[in-house]
Amino acid sequence: MMHILNRNHLLDPNEIRGEIRVIVEKYHSDRTQLLAILRECQERWRHLPALMITIIADEMDLPRVHVDGVATFYHFLSRAHRGNYTVYVNRSATAEMAGAAAIMKAFEKEVGVPFGQTTADQQIGLRTTSCIGMCDQEPAVLINEVVFTRMTPARVKKLVKAMRADVPIHEMLGKLGEGRNGSRAIHSEVVNNIRHKGPVFFTEYFPGSALKQAMEVGSLDVIEQIKASGLRGRGGAGFPTGQKWGFCRAAEADTRYVMCNADEGEPGTFKDRVLLTEMPELIFEGMAVAGYAIEAKEGILYLRGEYAYLKEHLEHVLTQMRSRHLLGRRILGTRFSFDIQIKMGAGAYICGEESALIESAEGKRGQPRNRPPFPVTSGYLRRPTIVNNVETFGCAAKIVLNGAEWFRKMGTSASAGVKLLSIAGDCAKPGIYEIEWGKSVREVLELCGAENVLAVQVGGPSGQCISEREFDRKLCFSDLGTGGAFTVFSKKRDILSIVHNFMEFFKDESCGFCVPCRAGNTLLLKALEKIMVGNGTHADIEGIKSLGQMVKTASRCGLGQTSPHPLLTSIQNFFEVYRDKVRNDVDYLSQFDLRFAVIDSCVAANRKPNLELEGRDERDVKEVSDGTGSC
Ligand code: SF4
Repeated sequence: MMHILNRNHLLDPNEIRGEIRVIVEKYHSDRTQLLAILRECQERWRHLPALMITIIADEMDLPRVHVDGVATFYHFLSRAHRGNYTVYVNRSATAEMAGAAAIMKAFEKEVGVPFGQTTADQQIGLRTTSCIGMCDQEPAVLINEVVFTRMTPARVKKLVKAMRADVPIHEMLGKLGEGRNGSRAIHSEVVNNIRHKGPVFFTEYFPGSALKQAMEVGSLDVIEQIKASGLRGRGGAGFPTGQKWGFCRAAEADTRYVMCNADEGEPGTFKDRVLLTEMPELIFEGMAVAGYAIEAKEGILYLRGEYAYLKEHLEHVLTQMRSRHLLGRRILGTRFSFDIQIKMGAGAYICGEESALIESAEGKRGQPRNRPPFPVTSGYLRRPTIVNNVETFGCAAKIVLNGAEWFRKMGTSASAGVKLLSIAGDCAKPGIYEIEWGKSVREVLELCGAENVLAVQVGGPSGQCISEREFDRKLCFSDLGTGGAFTVFSKKRDILSIVHNFMEFFKDESCGFCVPCRAGNTLLLKALEKIMVGNGTHADIEGIKSLGQMVKTASRCGLGQTSPHPLLTSIQNFFEVYRDKVRNDVDYLSQFDLRFAVIDSCVAANRKPNLELEGRDERDVKEVSDGTGSC
């Protein structure tokens, strides 16, 4: 019989089966809970080897290929042992700017293995990850779901020593953050950085007040009020919220669902993290109001895996709300019943796309669905479902409380109300800003104390990279729409390196379902790399433009439809950077670079490789010789 090697001990498959059976039973063998079960097994054994997948499939009476497909889709699940302590270092653009490379180097030195590997005793595993929602306090790392912020190489040394000594992870934390971050249920060193409050969020609010108001006006009027307020989805797409709720309520069905998209994965965005820390009651109440409006009984908060440290706190708030009759059976003594469960993601940016989020919540791979049908008619478990962003539910609760007119008066005619911005990068005061729609980029830059600005990435990598020429443009749906990310780059930054970081992100996060996105993003990245190392020509810039357009138009979901934006908008707004980098003396240069291609042979033969080529350094050589780099 096959055995599983864990921490250099052979585990008995019968014992594992027994433990897995207990986990599966805890979730009532519910197939929609497969991801939760896999997460729990990963946490317990630190990996999901083939035999474990077989046992889980047996116990859940699921095809093995299905379980395997889910287990191999998510970043935080792994076939290989990730170590009793798994360190994930964030490699987002702002993390790089804050010194993530030095933190990685320090970990490699102290742990003794390169990133991507686990120590021989399976004690510590080193991995990288994309944005973990801490752009205002980088460099940050996740270790066994606990966040460590503002890392330094000296701190790395201390943490590694503690991991070697089996110190419990929470005992390694430094000073706890302010507000609820310091509570027993969160117990985190994350800080909120709420820099600019407005009339909607982070102000006085009495839980239950919006629900009472909704019940006074009636469910149909709630939808009319949301429509009249002009509220549009705050996740980025900006679909009118009232219309969405109206479509869902009109769909014939015995059951409807309310889903809150807390899979805040766009690099540069962290506003939902702060809302869920400080105002979860408002968000849950907004979900209950939506449930009342569309006649749903169940809500799901889909929380990104990176925010697992908030789960206990959110469960605690749900329990409190149930005990106050704001959730559960017969809310506030009426006939309306509604409850909310939390489902966890496991590290997949694509799950922020609403149909992928629904698939993931059903315990499947987070792959987008073909649309139509849209979730409002066929969503979670093929029932009518509304999926809204965290901030949208918060706005909805306040609209019901204060009236549509109150909300409509703020912002612009096409973009009513306020917007939470997550500001990060080169500015004096990174953090959360509540602003009315319609503020110019220049005004926001003044607010956050940004000087000497080269570029602003509005809306994250899938948004737009704008230059000083456009700083008078307004943040609103009719000009610069945004889900909230506002990342500032000063003149000391290299635009091409930032674009490269974004394109690598999209290449890694493509779910791989459709060719234009899967292959197109890789080709775009390679074309950019060719330009960066000095082998590009004007034809390559033109090639990027036409391939980028093709990827945008031929891709199946929002990821592919926006992934070329970093390249296309930077070519448009920083053309001179590309122009100065490409060769004018030739029409075509091969992407193949013989000198770089033979680096690994040079290393193997103990010969000094030729490093004269611009853009290559010792790290590239090391990565190639480790097998972790790509040419
Ligand atoms: Fe997947 Fe990309 Fe296609 Fe979306 S566009 S379905 S992420 S491959």
